[in-house]
Amino acid sequence: GAGSLVLTLSACGQFSESSSEGGSVGRPEGGTVGIAMPTRASERWLTDGKSVVEGLEDKGYKAKLVYGDDDPKRQVAQIEDLVKLGVDALIVAAIDARSLNSVLQQAADANIPVISYDRLIMGTKNVDYYVSFDNEMVGRQQARHIIEKLGLEDGKGPFNIELFAGSPDDNNTKYFFDGSMALLQPFLDSKQLVVPSGETKLNKITTLRWDGPTAEKRMNDILSKWYGSQEVDAVLSPYDGISRGVLDALTADGYGSDSKPLPVVTGQDAELASVRSIIAGQQSQTVYKDIRALGEAATQMVDDILRERLPRIDNRTDYNNGVKDVPVYLLQPESVDKTNYELLVRDGYFTADQLK
Ligand code: BGC
Repeated sequence: GAGSLVLTLSACGQFSESSSEGGSVGRPEGGTVGIAMPTRASERWLTDGKSVVEGLEDKGYKAKLVYGDDDPKRQVAQIEDLVKLGVDALIVAAIDARSLNSVLQQAADANIPVISYDRLIMGTKNVDYYVSFDNEMVGRQQARHIIEKLGLEDGKGPFNIELFAGSPDDNNTKYFFDGSMALLQPFLDSKQLVVPSGETKLNKITTLRWDGPTAEKRMNDILSKWYGSQEVDAVLSPYDGISRGVLDALTADGYGSDSKPLPVVTGQDAELASVRSIIAGQQSQTVYKDIRALGEAATQMVDDILRERLPRIDNRTDYNNGVKDVPVYLLQPESVDKTNYELLVRDGYFTADQLK
């Protein structure tokens, strides 16, 4: 409302000084929206920040964008600052899904609507909407790629596979993993897929904060402990940064030659380095999620809420955050490999030059 707008404008400069990210100026009559993103260490989240800010400005809002640098406490402090600043709405991609309870209570007390962005915020009633991609579908697309590449449906095997999952504090991790396992489990049961490390339970295979070097180290350990006399045929990886860490461990171990080819390695986010790796025949797959569309959907949602229109949501109730079914709007991901990566150029996600 108008009251909070005045506060926003007067407090704005002060906030900029204490924050490393710049704000942006749009048509101020729409109000100001605070955006809390998790990290600058991965390409996708930079694109998220950019597209949400642009979407808001196009709709006449001011945007205040902050990045938590993968530190949950820092993110809480940033959101507290945005609440104090009197933003009209919050768009939050949580670092730790369960760390935002008290700060979101502060937001609710100040009547600030909250959109959970990409990752579902858990354990609080103070989240109004969730906008994301179909996260289970992401996991299914990764598994489908492995199944097709190995010819599992033609009865081929046995093949050695190792499983990697995302950060344990990110609610998406479970959806990706469950989606993958829904398709892979039958082949583990039939022993066409074998996991030599024996590490198949989610709590054994997570990667804190999606960190590539952490995954690289785990892959190294697995190779030296379990692969003395056998080779890896596939690695389920949930995210491009993890995939590249895994590939570094594999190449250091001599994979990537004619006699010892790289295994099938999946990924997610269509990060430039990984798309290039796919073209070069190293990483085999990624999942493309058009972040520009996610940004547009989130800003449309904010605009609807602030104009007291009902946002578009899907007719589904499978995103319960432990306290309530959060109304959700999901976009569709798309599997990308060597056969279809050009769609990224057609879509304008990358230029042809970038992929050279
Ligand atoms: C996102 C993925 C991303 C991962 C690591 C997840 O919450 O949905 O797109 O790969 O975080 O940043």
